[in-house]
This record gives sequence, C-alpha cells and structure tokens, in this order.
Amino acid sequence: MIYADNAATTKLDTDAFEAMKPFLLGEYGNASGIYSFSRVPKRALKDAREIIAQCIHASPEEIYFTSGGTESDNWAVKIIAGSDEKKRTVITSAIEHHAILNSCRVMEGRGYSVVYMTPDKDGIIASEILKRHITDTVSLVTVMSANNELGTIQPIRELSNLAHEHDAVFHTDAVQAIGHIDINVDEMGIDMLSASAHKFNGPKGVGFLYIRKGTNVSPYLDGGSQESGLRAGTENVPGIVGMAVALKSNIENLKTNRDYVRKLERHLLEKLSDFNVSYVRNGGENTLPGLISLSFDGRDGEAILHRLDLMGISIATGSACNSHSKEISHVLKAINLPESLAKGTVRISLGKNNTEQDVDAIADGLKKILFHNRN
Ligand code: PLP
Repeated sequence: MIYADNAATTKLDTDAFEAMKPFLLGEYGNASGIYSFSRVPKRALKDAREIIAQCIHASPEEIYFTSGGTESDNWAVKIIAGSDEKKRTVITSAIEHHAILNSCRVMEGRGYSVVYMTPDKDGIIASEILKRHITDTVSLVTVMSANNELGTIQPIRELSNLAHEHDAVFHTDAVQAIGHIDINVDEMGIDMLSASAHKFNGPKGVGFLYIRKGTNVSPYLDGGSQESGLRAGTENVPGIVGMAVALKSNIENLKTNRDYVRKLERHLLEKLSDFNVSYVRNGGENTLPGLISLSFDGRDGEAILHRLDLMGISIATGSACNSHSKEISHVLKAINLPESLAKGTVRISLGKNNTEQDVDAIADGLKKILFHNRN
C-alpha cells in the first residue's frame, strides 16, 4: 500500500502514540479534578499547552484545545463575526475549506454580509485583492495559510497588516500549513489560528485555536469552565498530549522533512517528464512541501484515482472533503481552471513517511494509466 494523501490525514508518529498510552490506561483521571489522581493529567495538559505555544511563538494562555480544524474554524468565524454590531461584514476567500465557507453561510443567514475574494489563477489572494474589499465595517478577515487542494501558500503578513489597518481581527486556517512550514503568529500578525493534529502526524479529533490575548471572544461551547471558560467539555488528554509531541517533533525537524519531501516532489515531476506525460501543475511557485495538484487535459481525475487505487496507491482528486461530490471543486472553479483540465485533476500529497520507491510506483502507475487507458 502506498499512501500519498497526506493532505487528507497523516500517519500517527510512534512517539506521539507512546506518549498518549499512559493517559488512555493508567492515568485516566479527569484533568479538571481536584484530587491527587488528577495531578498527572493536569500537568500533562499544562505541558502540552506550553509546547504548542512555543511551536507557534505564542503564550500558553493563548492556546485553546478543540476537537480539530472544523471546530476551530467555526469558533473563529461565528464568534468574531457576531462580536461587534457596528462591524457586520466578514471577508474570506472563495477557496477556503468548507469549515470556513459553511460557517460564513450561517452568518449570512443571520444577516451578516460576507465577501468571498477570488484568487488569481495560482490560487493566491494578494493584498491588492483584499484592499479592494476592506472597510472599517469589517469585523473579521479569514484567509487560510495554505490551500488544501492546490498547496498555495498565502501572503499572510500583508493580509493581516491590511486587516489591522481597518481594525479587523485576522484569522488564518493553518490546518494544512502548521508543522510543514514556519508559522510565527507574532511575525505574521495573526490574531487567531486554527490547527488540527491529524494533519501533522498527531491523532484525529483534536486540534487547537490560538487566540491572541486581548481579542474579544466569547465561549463557543457552553458548559463547564474548561479552557478558561471559553470551550467547555472534559479535555481529551491523550489526544492533546499526542498532538503536542507530534507538533514539537515536526517543528524540530521541519527543515529536514521539508527538504526531503521537496526532493520526492521533484523526483515525481522529473519522472513524469521523462515519461513524456503531459500535465499542468496548479498552485503557483510557492506551495506546501509535497502537495502536488496535477491536471491531465481531457482525462477523468476520478478514474485515475480508482485505477491507482487498484494498484494499491492512495491519492485524491480534489479535497478529501469533496470525495462524495462529482462536481468540480469550488477551488478549481475559483482559479478558473478550464473544465477539461479541472475534470482531469488529481492531488498527490507526499509526506515524510513516503519513499523514493513510492514515488517511482506513483509515476509508473500514472504512465500506465495515461498511455494505455483512455478514459
Ligand atoms: N481546514 C483545512 C484547510 C483542512 O484541510 C481541513 C481538513 O481537511 C479542515 C480545515 C478540517 O479539519 P478537521 O478534519 O480537523 O476537522
């Protein structure tokens, strides 16, 4: 089995798994308990918060644990959009994940206006695009750090500067970016940031929302007083511990992993060229390491996916979240990719656990499919 869909999810790091085990078995106490049996899980939560904060150059009190990227995105959009009655507009991009887009639709239903910025053909939201739309009535600007279908990395610093000039909160969905490229919330002017552990070799169903001190937020989940009273619910201690170990390891090895995955990426593209496979690569020059969106003119991306699957290779067409939809993804539509290319688009996302042999098998598989099977 060759797994090349690391943008959908990643393999749990062994170290993260080992660190989680004690909290699933012996140390199962409720971290909010006040007796001594809660001391170890409580301490583990504190340590995890500190580790995660360090990884993004934040303070521990600015990290709020959640169930993952979707919850963090919902929290950011729904709470900030409704936080100031004089500022009733949200600006986002047309290529965000549905966790952002559908939260924005909910806010539209509640009478707020939302601007969905169109990127350029590479999927970039340049600050000039935001400049056209931003006014002092905007409460929130939310633009993802890197796109999950194209890999395009956004100019976050410029976008956040512009948001702040108009007194708007700047949120970024960094679910695909964190653990794979440098993220420094201070240098990048980020007020809120969403992350999800399973995209950086942590466990599924856990993530965090970074909220800069002084940002006016209210609780998202009501109930107990966990997470400083802003996100109720018994803490997922094993998940949080696994997330911290995985993020720390990915950040410490970021450069090595990035260079290795970029090498695999180049190797794949060189092999395809050697085979005379013609393709268009989407997403521009500055993309996430290993995330390769390829369009094969006149072909059927889904048929390619299924044929590779029969060879034991897992890749994606567009976003994993679109896997039930036959339609061209909203991202490919937003970059205005011609239909014959859009329909023939696949996403190969390589990670640190892939090998050169994996890449050879993917290239060989694509060659066989594209030369021998017209679809
Ligand atoms: N945002 C982006 C950019 C994503 O790629 C994903 C998952 O694919 C999410 C949010 C949702 O994250 P989660 O699966 O943790 O809910």
